[in-house]
Amino acid sequence: MRIEVDQLKEASAPFAKNYAPAELQLEDDFMRLASEAKVEGRASKKREQVRMQGTINASVEVDCDRCAAPVNVPVNTDFDVTYLPLEALTVDAEATELQEDDLNFAAYEGNTLDLDVLAREQILLALPTRQLCREDCQGLCPACGANLNTQTCGCEQQDIDPRWAALAALKKT
Ligand SMILES: [Zn+2]
Ligand SMILES: [Zn+2]
Repeated sequence: MRIEVDQLKEASAPFAKNYAPAELQLEDDFMRLASEAKVEGRASKKREQVRMQGTINASVEVDCDRCAAPVNVPVNTDFDVTYLPLEALTVDAEATELQEDDLNFAAYEGNTLDLDVLAREQILLALPTRQLCREDCQGLCPACGANLNTQTCGCEQQDIDPRWAALAALKKT
């Protein structure tokens, strides 16, 4: 959804958008929306600065870091992002530095601001960097790819740390 910058005023105006899972791409291969994402908030403009404040409620399906099983992660996050015109950011070094240091600054180009990008970024920010399906997930066998949570395979001996293997050999003698 696009926000028309020249229609914004100093008094904040509400906006709301519900994204169907297919409408908002996250990281294609290993995370996607599990259900509708609700984005709502208020937008205001002071001179050229646009401020977008609001909340996002979503449910994201993320692949387990070890076994790739899908895990549902609820996302309930607030945002407060100030947008500056791209021209101002590239000309004004101070503003550019601000933007680099602070995730709460972003740029808009021309007369529109893309709410899809904002929603996507905020959802990704709210997600943990590593997600396991459960604390003690056994992961996949590195040799044959078997899911070790649900099956065993014949490769276990190859997974043994060589130092332990040496120790085990010592014990036998
Ligand atoms: Zn797992
Ligand atoms: Zn195996």
